[in-house]
Amino acid sequence: MPVNRERFLADFLELARIPSPSGKEKEVARAVKAKLESMGLTVLEDNAGEKFGGEQGNLIVKVPSKLEGIPAIMFNAHLDTVVPCENVNPIVEGDKVRSDGKTILGADNKAGVCVLLEFLRVLKEDGIQHGPLEIVFTVAEETGLHGAKHLDYSLISAKVGFVLDSGPPVNKVIVQAPSQKNLKAVIKGKAAHAGVSPEKGINAIQLAARAIAAMRLGRIDNETTANIGVIRGGLATNIVPEEVEILGEARSHDPRKLDEQIAHMVALLEKEAQKGGGSAEIEVKEVYRSFRITEDDLPAKLIASALEKMGLKPQWEITGGGSDANIFNEHGIKCVLICCGEESPHSPENERLDIPSALQSVELLVNIVTAFAQVSKNL
Ligand SMILES: [Zn+2]
Repeated sequence: MPVNRERFLADFLELARIPSPSGKEKEVARAVKAKLESMGLTVLEDNAGEKFGGEQGNLIVKVPSKLEGIPAIMFNAHLDTVVPCENVNPIVEGDKVRSDGKTILGADNKAGVCVLLEFLRVLKEDGIQHGPLEIVFTVAEETGLHGAKHLDYSLISAKVGFVLDSGPPVNKVIVQAPSQKNLKAVIKGKAAHAGVSPEKGINAIQLAARAIAAMRLGRIDNETTANIGVIRGGLATNIVPEEVEILGEARSHDPRKLDEQIAHMVALLEKEAQKGGGSAEIEVKEVYRSFRITEDDLPAKLIASALEKMGLKPQWEITGGGSDANIFNEHGIKCVLICCGEESPHSPENERLDIPSALQSVELLVNIVTAFAQVSKNL
């Protein structure tokens, strides 16, 4: 049986209608699990949900090998979507699916989930020769990659993987993503009556403003960006503000540059707070680490030979965003991000599922496992 458009689309329309905001994926996980079990597969669930306060763990399916002595390969998509995702009304128009504009569609990342389901069916029906597969459906990707961070890695032996969370065309492969660190600063001054005794006060907003005005922000260089995204503080016009909170971030493809940029932001906040007689409490958190896959790395080689069978050449790309692929790479699974047919994610008006490229992705996955079986035999 070749890739089946109707079956893929039926899966997608069903899953798109199930709300699955990050941390609340129980219902969609149940539906996906039932589909996997109907294919005769065993579905494991880890306790990631308990670890970060979500209702659902990651689903892991180990598809046994038909061949001997081949290492495992991992495929991943995430079960959660951004909001608004209640009462999604998916509308099929030719080769595209959209929402009615009131909610997101959730092709990010239910397209990826459905590509994996169709891939598993095709493998079985066509009796494709493949090594062991580890299929991982993560939770809570959108709110901080929590599922991938808390995945039970003792269940995973793959050292190479593919994350289906990117847009068309099918030959676009994301091989590089930045590191990100978040910064939270609380600048403290001193409250006083703004009209009666302003000289007794220290204006925390002004201290913060001086520091931010002197900061290098925006695009720092071709690998690095930085932003102050939130500032909140103050109570009333007649009170010299005692406290202000500042949230910011920096990203870079070069971890050294990221640390330099964060150090620059922290130093300015501390310096201006102290100079003005106030203080600064600053927390820096690593959100995810960068990765870089080269053309000589196995995932890139596999993609190249899988695409060749389709008469296509890989288009290597760099992203400015983080994904579960960052976390898997941190855990020693060399991963790239590939197309699942999702377009303009996180936008109720513009998000689309592109059906033909999702179906091509299924074909690509079949070619990847076939290529891997061939390479492994020659190892
Ligand atoms: Zn996504």
